[in-house]
Amino acid sequence: MSLRPTIDFLLYNWLNVPELQTRERFADHSRETFDAVLDTCERIARVKYAPFNRTVDIEEPKFDGEKVILPQATHDACKAYAESGMLSAAQDYAIGGMQLPYTVEAAANAFFAMASVSIGSGMLTTGNANLLMAHGTELQKEVFALNEFNGRFSGTMCLSEPQAGSSLSDVATRAVPDGADFQNDPLGPRYRLRGNKMWISAGEHELTENIIHLVLAKIPDANGQLVPGVKGISLFIVPKKLVDTQGQLTGERNDVALAGLNHKCGWRGTTNTLLNFGEGKYPVRGESGAIGYLVGQPGEGLKCMFHMMNEARIGVGMAATMLGMAGYYASLDYAKNRPQGRPMSPAGKNPASPQVRIIDHADIKRMLLAQKSYSEGALALALYCARLVDEQHTGAPEVADDARLLLEVLTPIVKSFPSEWCLEANSLAIQIHGGYGYTRDFPVEQYWRDNRLNMIHEGTHGIQAMDLLGRKVLIENGKGLKLLAARMQATIAKASPEWQAEARQLADALQQVGAATQAAWQGAEPAQALANAVPYLQAFGHTVIAWIWLDVAQSAAGDAPANVGRRAAARYFFRYELPKIGAWLQVVSTRDSTCADVPEDAF
Ligand SMILES: Cc1cc2nc3c(=O)[nH]c(=O)nc-3n(C[C@H](O)[C@H](O)[C@H](O)COP(=O)(O)OP(=O)(O)OC[C@H]3O[C@@H](n4cnc5c(N)ncnc54)[C@H](O)[C@@H]3O)c2cc1C
Repeated sequence: MSLRPTIDFLLYNWLNVPELQTRERFADHSRETFDAVLDTCERIARVKYAPFNRTVDIEEPKFDGEKVILPQATHDACKAYAESGMLSAAQDYAIGGMQLPYTVEAAANAFFAMASVSIGSGMLTTGNANLLMAHGTELQKEVFALNEFNGRFSGTMCLSEPQAGSSLSDVATRAVPDGADFQNDPLGPRYRLRGNKMWISAGEHELTENIIHLVLAKIPDANGQLVPGVKGISLFIVPKKLVDTQGQLTGERNDVALAGLNHKCGWRGTTNTLLNFGEGKYPVRGESGAIGYLVGQPGEGLKCMFHMMNEARIGVGMAATMLGMAGYYASLDYAKNRPQGRPMSPAGKNPASPQVRIIDHADIKRMLLAQKSYSEGALALALYCARLVDEQHTGAPEVADDARLLLEVLTPIVKSFPSEWCLEANSLAIQIHGGYGYTRDFPVEQYWRDNRLNMIHEGTHGIQAMDLLGRKVLIENGKGLKLLAARMQATIAKASPEWQAEARQLADALQQVGAATQAAWQGAEPAQALANAVPYLQAFGHTVIAWIWLDVAQSAAGDAPANVGRRAAARYFFRYELPKIGAWLQVVSTRDSTCADVPEDAF
């Protein structure tokens, strides 16, 4: 079983990606160039990533007091990825990019996420560099972003602190002007940063010449006080090693020190770090304090950072999705080969007959279809969102604006649906393997452990839910929600006769989501409206995936086994999954306060 036919189907039969060639930016591209990128990534993922997925899980990163040691396989994989040009695939030709549509870039990166999400493929580095391309000065782009795109430097995002996780308004890292001439540094207004950043992925390693940290910190006011709330947060480039205006290392180590490596449940191939900024371990230019260069305007740090976070959220959704796919393929293979049990006939079971393979049992097929419907549905949604990113960047103004709003509403879903349901898919993959799935002799337990992170980072499930119900469905008078509803109505209207029952079911689900959105907010305080935000997110996500499946099913006619499978997964989703939204929306609509009201001492 290979991922490629599914990717090809979604890109070419469903999303009509070659149509993008009509845009000036993509005029040099064709199906041949897209296929060449997919071929290359599929090959590198097969050769440099997949064989080492278990290695990086077992050989966790180690700190020898000076350097972080990672398996050689990680160095080789990251080198091959950088050499493929994928770090700058979407960038302009003028700066060495390929001007590849983001849809194709996202599809190509899916191969790496499936082969070894743990090794990683530069999501943070490209996200970091893209942020600088959007908000940095010309020199910041040249010195930092371009050297990330070419693989010399790598990037991080440093938001979280020990006391500031979901609540970023509590960021306490301080940034003070560095000397009287701080405004005149060609790399940007220069500050000294002091504080601790927790959970920083890829925060320390020897994979690249330098590490470019993008750090949220607060500039104190004239009285030395930090401005409360997110309005006081600014964004800084803090390189691990200082560089000159040509991007060359000056030989000075910046005052950023690894305080410790976190030992994770999964995703162990990537370091996770507690970093101390400016504590004086590496005094620089005679003083303690990490040197950082302001990006954008003071106080606009979180706004700039969201540029990176939104991309990262699509990336996280894709990672969760591909772990779901990996578990699906592994358990499908196992189910086709494991003999166990005998068929039930009206006369009972015949113990003298040979055992059947477990794929013959209806319950195993149920678990396979569940995994397929979650994972392929999530993959289709992720590529749909990637296509919206291309619309936003290259479509006509009105189309681009619609894409922007649709992305606002769909981003919490593209991040949260795979994080929850492709994790459930991994659990089902373990279940299909029985006891063997619970051992480390098979890969599925690692997929589950790797995937468990995704409901936590880049905004927890609870935070995504509050973002959706508390902000995204309300912005611009609910225009994003209306646009999404219109897209669903268009799919309902074009459903073939075979899919009329599902089309009606989707129309009903859409109506229920709309009614619950209104009921949740009808005269309510935000705390009441948002108390059941997660069930709302779950119902919203299931409605979106049902829509995606109905749409995909319209492109999957005929007797080819792959299309029979797609239609079966679509039907499964409508019959076994979509009906769940009734229970989720009930507590939203009635603003049920069972959870909110329970006193602490009753637990
Ligand atoms: C492996 C890993 C990698 C990471 N990588 C990075 C990175 O590269 N850069 C970075 O900056 N951060 C990173 N993070 C941090 C991550 O973003 C945080 O863990 C996340 O934001 C949650 O913060 P927290 O862990 O402090 O949990 P908390 O914020 O303490 O949350 C604990 C629980 O309380 C809930 N909760 C919190 N506030 C509310 C509220 N107001 N209403 C309802 N429920 C609430 C949360 O949903 C969660 O379930 C990483 C984390 C991990 C585990």
